[in-house]
Amino acid sequence: MAREKFLKQDRLADWLAALGEKNRVLVPREEGNSVVFRPYAAGDALVLSVDSTASPKAALFPACQELFRFEQAKDPQNPDHTTMKLFQSRGAESTLVFGARPCGVRGFTIFDRVYQGEKHPDPYYKAARDNTLFVTLTCEHPDNTCFCHWVGGGPDDGAGSDVLATPVEGGYVLEPVSKRGEALLDSPLLEEAGDKSKEAAAARKRGREKLGEAPDIGNAGASLLAVFDDMGFWEDVSAKCLSCGACTYLCPTCYCFTLTDESDGLSGKRLRSWDNCMSYQFCLEASGHNPRPTKAHRLRNRVGHKFSYYPALHGGLIACCGCGRCIKNCPVSVDIREIVLRAIEHAGPNMQEVSNG
Ligand code: SF4
Ligand code: SF4
Repeated sequence: MAREKFLKQDRLADWLAALGEKNRVLVPREEGNSVVFRPYAAGDALVLSVDSTASPKAALFPACQELFRFEQAKDPQNPDHTTMKLFQSRGAESTLVFGARPCGVRGFTIFDRVYQGEKHPDPYYKAARDNTLFVTLTCEHPDNTCFCHWVGGGPDDGAGSDVLATPVEGGYVLEPVSKRGEALLDSPLLEEAGDKSKEAAAARKRGREKLGEAPDIGNAGASLLAVFDDMGFWEDVSAKCLSCGACTYLCPTCYCFTLTDESDGLSGKRLRSWDNCMSYQFCLEASGHNPRPTKAHRLRNRVGHKFSYYPALHGGLIACCGCGRCIKNCPVSVDIREIVLRAIEHAGPNMQEVSNG
């Protein structure tokens, strides 16, 4: 393992400024009642004591992204003849995300299988992924809504990150978890970690211990399929849902989008924007038919996708990183953990297990 480094608290601003010479640096900052990732500027107050309200997903998958511009030209002498020119939009800029938590960054490993898969790799996502580094903060004080350890993660999980930063007395111990992370730690502003490594290991251990034992949800996928047609179950668990979509927009693993064109008729731009499967319009067809007409159908899809359909397609990997954002920020406190556990209980024993890859 490459050597850990120590970043003194009073050198954090200098280190971020040095990283900012080559990268756009995104950090968690307070905005209104929320903590969101924004470009770092000298003197900014970072919020590192709590997890961000918004996940870091916009760093690679912006809420609204211009894909390309187009210009259409008609030939006045030959009105049936139209030419269309396409202009590629700006590529991904080098970015470093500082201060996201392991669950939020793990979310990108769920994106990777979809947007970097062999069949339909997405060039926009891939460019952003290749150009983005993550210095991720480990968690010593998980919230009671955190359940990363149920779904294959943990408060010091390095999946998707380049460096893990563990807060210790007087600063941070930085552990490289990728080759790019090793290169990041080659800075005169950092010191050898020495005994600080032991402090960091103890802090990480305390974080894991605070989460406690995870229930066995290996049969969640099969159980959700077993209760699929039980609409009474789904009406019950979705009764208080308002279909507001906060859960999907804040979720680090929700990757659905919609495409729209903004144009003056002949020229314009194509935009990709986050979509929300909890809204009535998401599945509404042009004929007026809606295959998911009620919130019970939609919540069934959301939970089923994350804990059953996605894992079935991706080697058992659960498409939820257990960050708890959907629980914390739901206006009526719909709790995805309760739904999964109730489905397991409702389906009964003897459901086939799937491994969490
Ligand atoms: S945040 Fe809560 S109320 Fe809003 S759509 Fe999600 S589950 Fe329903
Ligand atoms: S479903 Fe909820 S807990 Fe799971 S990753 Fe999304 S926001 Fe986090």
